[in-house]
Amino acid sequence: LSSLENAISFYRPEYDQYNTRRLMMVSELKHAIEKDNLELFFQPKLDLKTREIVGLEALVRWNHERYGLVFPDEFIPLAEETGIIKLLTRWVIRSAFLAQKKFIHQGYDYTMSINISALNLKESDLVVFLKEELYSAGIDPNKIYLELTETAMMTNPLNAIEVLERLQRLGVFISIDDFGAGYSSLAYLKSLPASEIKIDRSLIAGICDDINSDMVARATIDMCRGLGFKVVAEGVENTAVFDRLIELNCDIIQGYLLTRPLPYLELISWIEENLNEKRFVS
Ligand code: C2E
Ligand code: CA
Ligand code: CA
Repeated sequence: LSSLENAISFYRPEYDQYNTRRLMMVSELKHAIEKDNLELFFQPKLDLKTREIVGLEALVRWNHERYGLVFPDEFIPLAEETGIIKLLTRWVIRSAFLAQKKFIHQGYDYTMSINISALNLKESDLVVFLKEELYSAGIDPNKIYLELTETAMMTNPLNAIEVLERLQRLGVFISIDDFGAGYSSLAYLKSLPASEIKIDRSLIAGICDDINSDMVARATIDMCRGLGFKVVAEGVENTAVFDRLIELNCDIIQGYLLTRPLPYLELISWIEENLNEKRFVS
């Protein structure tokens, strides 16, 4: 009887609620993309040497009619499981290019970082799609960073590297996202066609709290710089971490210390305020 009991799972209303929401989202996501119910928010990247904003990362949100603002951690996995990620990434790329043109028109000539899923690397027409979109939007490929996680590149290394090389040949930059969050293969890192490494928040957040975290961060930054990558620290939330990252020779930071990701107009206001106050200059 006890083994039978083990095989029974008990009904819990909260599971059901979650599943209902999940099922609804799967069926609605495609429609949301087609109806432009997604929105890009932008978070700035600050160069620690010049103290200037050098780039923006585009982060997608879903304006859902019943659930309000839905965050990507909830719907990107759904999009990946259902194959909608192809459509979604293409929506993000087009929208990020449009936004990039608007920023440049406003006088803000920043780079634009776009998150790409591992699954997108398997699409045979991804490179052609990007090439055509760059051309028709009139975007300088040298202003575009494509962010991919390490695990994304490791799931199918040979194919991934080949696609990344073709992307690089278009002139766009490749960035390795969430570095240090999973299994990091140092031997493999060297061979990746990438220009930038983003060190995961989990490695950065604690550097002022204990000596071990500080040592790990220092070694990671030194190694990545030694291999010729630009190093971005993610998730910088306070000035203590900011100051320490300057001492550790980190190139660029991103995080709530500057601002949370903001919608287009709010980000423009944020930039204007901070430029006037010269807040990150000294
Ligand atoms: P990510 O690419 O690592 O993006 C950074 C995430 O950390 C963002 O969450 C950002 O809001 C958050 N963040 C930034 N600074 C801080 C900080 O100082 N402290 C803390 N606690 N968090 C910070 P968000 O926007 O919810 O995105 C979550 C993840 O969803 C992203 O992680 C990325 O993996 C994925 N994602 C977002 N937009 C896209 C997209 O357009 N396409 C794809 N494929 N994935 C996306
Ligand atoms: Ca990212
Ligand atoms: Ca990241």
